[in-house]
Amino acid sequence: MKETLMLTFFAALLSGCGGGTDKECVKTVGVDEFANIATQSGVRTLDVRTPQEYAEGHIAGAENIDVKDTGFAERISGINGTVAVYCRGGKRSLTAARLLAANGCTVYNLNGGIMAWKKARRPTTTVETDVFETRNGKLVKLHALKHSSIRIEYDGREILVDPCAKLPNCTVDYASLPKADIILVTHEHFDHFDSATVSLLATTKTRLLMNRRCVDLYGSGTALANGDKIRLADDISVEAVPAYNTSADRLQFHPQGRDNGYVLTLDGLRIYIAGDTEEIPEMANLGHIDIAFLPCNLPFTMTTAQLVAVAGKLKPTVLFPYHYSETDLTGVAEQLPGIDVRVRHYE
Ligand code: ZN
Ligand code: ZN
Repeated sequence: MKETLMLTFFAALLSGCGGGTDKECVKTVGVDEFANIATQSGVRTLDVRTPQEYAEGHIAGAENIDVKDTGFAERISGINGTVAVYCRGGKRSLTAARLLAANGCTVYNLNGGIMAWKKARRPTTTVETDVFETRNGKLVKLHALKHSSIRIEYDGREILVDPCAKLPNCTVDYASLPKADIILVTHEHFDHFDSATVSLLATTKTRLLMNRRCVDLYGSGTALANGDKIRLADDISVEAVPAYNTSADRLQFHPQGRDNGYVLTLDGLRIYIAGDTEEIPEMANLGHIDIAFLPCNLPFTMTTAQLVAVAGKLKPTVLFPYHYSETDLTGVAEQLPGIDVRVRHYE
């Protein structure tokens, strides 16, 4: 059995797919087509890089079978049907693709590998992290989970904003995260409030700060109304600020007075998490903001033009556009000279 496999292995390496050409048996496709195929039911996605490369971040749902591993041919012998395969740059995966095709699989090879995937800003399991320092030299790590979900590590504490596993294509493994010391929830929409994820992360000691409706739905927690301030430690405070729509055709999504944005202050570092809002007059009273999270998607929040207008007035040191879904953010940074605009995986 092993000898047969090894023969197949070498034959495939030498001749493409058992005598065929790549064109016939392996389709090398771009990022968009690969993403479509990989998400179809019944399709197996293989990451053929080393286990270490895989652990550092991969396409969600991909299995790792290292093509350089001596047991590769044996491990793929039971695979049939349609397979989507990738590596770092597309070279190793082509070798793997030929072997899979020789076994009778229909194979799609990602052109340019995961490098091209990342360049197209497609998500991987790697969480992007930005690190800031407070005035007393404490570190604040902002991990971009997804859409409106932010994980903040600060001085040994875990803070989660709108932790939500219900988002489409969510690759965040919440079960692997540390329990939260503080959870902030802006409002009850499905892309912000997920009671299962909240209860997964919460302990009896967790400070759970939410708008009124979420507290009612969850059955516990502290309800904060717009304007409420709470000091959680000498160096940690939270202020609930208004978040609402102002455009006539969007008023029904986020009516005034119901939802919260938050200003989270960590050892003097002021982080504004705007929630689902458009430009509102109360933003003028926020004071100095170091780091701003501003939403940008229609029909629920702001257009890019609105985002630029708000950021231009707010003048945060760093801006994270978030809650942006399919919005094309090209050109936003160029329109905001003097602001460090960082686009992370908050689609
Ligand atoms: Zn909402
Ligand atoms: Zn939302």
